[in-house]
Amino acid sequence: MSSRSSEPRVGLRGPVLIAGGAGYIGSHTTKLFRELGVATVVLDNLSTGHRRFVQGPFEQADLGDRATLARVFAEHRPAAVVHFAAKTYVGESVTDPSKYYLENVAYTWNLLEAMRAAGCRDIVFSSSCATYGNPLRVPIDEDHPQAPISPYGRTKLHMEHMMEDYSRAYGLRFAALRYFNAAGASQGGELGEIHVPETHLIPLVLFTALGLREKISVFGDDYDTPDGTCIRDYVHVEDLALAHVLALSKLQAGTERLACNLGTGQGFSVLEVIETCRRVSGRPIAVVQAPRREGDPPRLVSGGSRAFDLLGWKPRRPGLADIVGDAWRFHSAEARRPEA
Ligand code: UDP
Repeated sequence: MSSRSSEPRVGLRGPVLIAGGAGYIGSHTTKLFRELGVATVVLDNLSTGHRRFVQGPFEQADLGDRATLARVFAEHRPAAVVHFAAKTYVGESVTDPSKYYLENVAYTWNLLEAMRAAGCRDIVFSSSCATYGNPLRVPIDEDHPQAPISPYGRTKLHMEHMMEDYSRAYGLRFAALRYFNAAGASQGGELGEIHVPETHLIPLVLFTALGLREKISVFGDDYDTPDGTCIRDYVHVEDLALAHVLALSKLQAGTERLACNLGTGQGFSVLEVIETCRRVSGRPIAVVQAPRREGDPPRLVSGGSRAFDLLGWKPRRPGLADIVGDAWRFHSAEARRPEA
């Protein structure tokens, strides 16, 4: 589907500046905007993103570089920003919080200032269920108190608060999308999850199925859950991408601020994920029990209906077997790449 030859088929004004558009969720979102005929510009420093995942115009730059940010806004005149660029490792945020306060909080301030100077007022950004901390109730609805327990979660909450304050003072319009567990890959197979190091469950289990790892460690089997392992809400990365498009169209239609969860509302245990990976791949997967990972709450499942009520968002691929199937296709193809 050509993005340049057609007028936007959604009521969206571009170009959209996609900070972190070379990353996992950012690249899927860029792809969707372009399929809908909305112009994009990706801004990414490629510290964790991948050049081959970038679609359309690209500026390799760092959000710490304010002069370049000003030039990018002057040159591309973005009508809106979608902001994915952030550090995302909970463990690293505990040992090196400085990096997280700099790159998540201070760099977001840089971005908001560049927007303000350029008169660009709409931003959709990646928040996280980590802003809720240890849940007091599950499913977790959007009115659940936000009391993050890691520096990572705290930086995401600071970002939300900063945008709230800018919204009230300067007329910024923002959507904070609190993701649960992003998973899967594009159904076309060209985009997927590559983190170095990889710490996420589904890719690690699939690496084991591919023979790239000997076994998968299950972090804790004595939680207060039916099979003793942690439960998470896995949401397809293409469904996350869709929510960003819907959120931006809401802002451009006049909504000043919104925050909502993005999850399917279904929880799966670590053992259920491994079993699904076995079924989908048809391969044996060796499992070992390991101690609990610090900071892992037993259950994180999205509740609340704000994403549906406000955005009309409903996951199109909520099934775990579909999510794992798309990830399996992507990782199998990656493993065949000569440079893999
Ligand atoms: N997990 C695991 N073994 C691994 C990686 C993760 O048992 O090698 C568990 C982890 O403890 C959590 C769930 O899988 O309960 C999902 O972890 P992931 O890192 O994918 O996402 P998180 O929920 O931490 O954002």
